[in-house]
Amino acid sequence: MDLKTGLDAFPGIGPARSKALARLGLETVGDLLSYYPRAYEDRTKLHTISNAPADLPVCVSAMVADVPSLSRLRKGLNVTKCRIVDHTGTAQVTFFNQDYVRHALTPGESYIFYGRLEVMGRHRQFTNPVFEREDKTRFTGRIMPVYPLTAGVSNHLLAGLTLPSVEECARLVPDQLPRDICQDHQLCSAEYACQNIHFPVDMEALALAKRRLVFEELFFLSCGMSYLRRRRSGAAGRSFPRRGPEEFFSLLPFEPTGAQRRAMEEVAADLSSGRPMNRLIQGDVGSGKTAVAAFAAWLTHSGGAQTALMAPTEILAHQHFETLQRLLAPARIVVGLLTGGMKAAEKRSVRAALARGDIHLIIGTHALLSEGVDYRDLGLVITDEQHRFGVGQRSALSAKAQTPPHVLVMSATPSPRTLALLIYGDLDVTVIDQLPPGRTPVGTYLVGEDKRERMYGFVRKNVSQGRQVYIICPAVEEGENGDLKAVTAYAKTLSEQVFPDLRVAFVHGKLKGREKEAVMSAFSRGEIDVLVSTTVVEVGVDVPNAALMVIENAERFGLSQLHQLRGRVGRGPWESHCVLVTSNRGAETLERLRYFTKTTDGFKIAEKDLELRGPGDFFGRRQHGLPTLQAADLAGDTRILKEAQQAAAELLSADPDLRLPEHQIVKEKVRRLFSEDGDIFN
Ligand code: ADP
Ligand code: MG
Repeated sequence: MDLKTGLDAFPGIGPARSKALARLGLETVGDLLSYYPRAYEDRTKLHTISNAPADLPVCVSAMVADVPSLSRLRKGLNVTKCRIVDHTGTAQVTFFNQDYVRHALTPGESYIFYGRLEVMGRHRQFTNPVFEREDKTRFTGRIMPVYPLTAGVSNHLLAGLTLPSVEECARLVPDQLPRDICQDHQLCSAEYACQNIHFPVDMEALALAKRRLVFEELFFLSCGMSYLRRRRSGAAGRSFPRRGPEEFFSLLPFEPTGAQRRAMEEVAADLSSGRPMNRLIQGDVGSGKTAVAAFAAWLTHSGGAQTALMAPTEILAHQHFETLQRLLAPARIVVGLLTGGMKAAEKRSVRAALARGDIHLIIGTHALLSEGVDYRDLGLVITDEQHRFGVGQRSALSAKAQTPPHVLVMSATPSPRTLALLIYGDLDVTVIDQLPPGRTPVGTYLVGEDKRERMYGFVRKNVSQGRQVYIICPAVEEGENGDLKAVTAYAKTLSEQVFPDLRVAFVHGKLKGREKEAVMSAFSRGEIDVLVSTTVVEVGVDVPNAALMVIENAERFGLSQLHQLRGRVGRGPWESHCVLVTSNRGAETLERLRYFTKTTDGFKIAEKDLELRGPGDFFGRRQHGLPTLQAADLAGDTRILKEAQQAAAELLSADPDLRLPEHQIVKEKVRRLFSEDGDIFN
């Protein structure tokens, strides 16, 4: 067995299980070893039935005293029960819907049961414990890993695969950190880390293992980010002549805010500096980042080059296309659109126009990255809602220019500092800390099911005043997830029963590009009163006449996401509202949602969100634009992050291009880390 051994080589792993494992990204022993537990169960101590502490997870060794009996409580609910005994007493064991247990437990045999032991007077009971035969235990006496799972893969199955893999292959895990860095920072070896992250000897060993793995991950990430930054700042860039912003302001339908002016000044300075711009414009939802992007494109056009603007969704790309076309047409700037949903012929003609230089500003989705999209002279790359993209995607787009282009990224998500350091470590930052005048904060309310009728009344009132309404649901189709409001069915109910006299439509991510586009433009033209939608409208969508947002099953959304959603209203001169609907009574949920109703500051909301949910879920997995982090807990690991960043900086200042033979392994690792999205070493 080695790191490349396929998991189907293990006994009991057939095609079905292989497929389930592959869903977790697990195909080889190597994959398995870098698939880290999310928690641990301490099974080092054995208890007796009467001395085991109540209601805590414990291991108990006991003999099965009778033949397990199976009974059917109702459709879909089977119960298997038996009694177990040891020299101190007896306990009842109950399994729900685990019929196989009947044959797995043999009367007269001893097993180790692990679970919570409930104590009610003299009665003791285990519900759904895990168990092993006492003479064949593998996990008792250990600290047992608990892995993230998927359907068809149980924790016992996974642990049963990792145990022999760790025993045989931990020593094969390559030690990729330079030796002196390990020494300076007192990090354990890769082998020790691998053994103890999966099957720790004790809690101290686990802490050591974690420290090493987190350090390693953050170190390579920091190397990659510094490498990107260094390479850019050393490069020569185009210089576009400065032109007074007043001329641009005359195109705008509004007076720019002070913060927008400042941002534009900085952009103008960057573009004329002779070095490639690498700037992040960070501003809360609705702060007016689009105008800054338009200014940058306008300047680039006067400098004789093209601009590409990439947006994370088709809806947003389309909207930018309409806004910017309206804004820039008077300056004779030709704006084009390219999305994956367009017809092949349309795409072809847009690509041809781009290559000829007939399109000055192209707006699109990921489609802009595809092969065959060539520019006559690409001078500026803008990515909107950057947190939705991978770091490498930014560079993939830049790679389409002959000389390094200027790069402008825009993000609404105010990142807590630790995250910002990592995600935007290679960028200069401009903060737009001011909202356009005349905005009134969006009044936010939390209501239960009992207020549903009133909420519908409020929707009606808004529509009768000429406003439009968003209703957000967490699911697309009924049955996807039990009792969640689903867009299609709910839209039907609303239009047939609740609001038969209003214009109700729906939109979600599974519709075709064209269909989405048709609904969204009808909505922005005011032809739809109530738009029922999933979170596809979450980022960037701007329809100022929409003044009410209702969010169903609000408990399903994270705070940052709610904030993004709420940012869709309150964009016009009208009083706007956001109503969160939930039937959840959990104290924590209600506290979280109440916090949201009282806070409008996106930065505070982001910090709270991070604190409550932990970084893994913070932007939704893989939405923070970083390569996937396996070990690093970004919230808790600020100290290790600093250490790792410093180590990376030292290494790169000694060997900026990673040429030294002993650093080849670092270079390779960084290359692979970013390779999902494009090669940063190009
Ligand atoms: P975001 O920063 O969320 O991308 P947008 O650029 O979409 O914000 O701007 C939000 C709304 O505010 C748009 O309708 C835009 O036209 C308007 N807007 C932007 N800047 C100003 C301003 N200085 N004065 C008035 N309205 C503005
Ligand atoms: Mg925007």
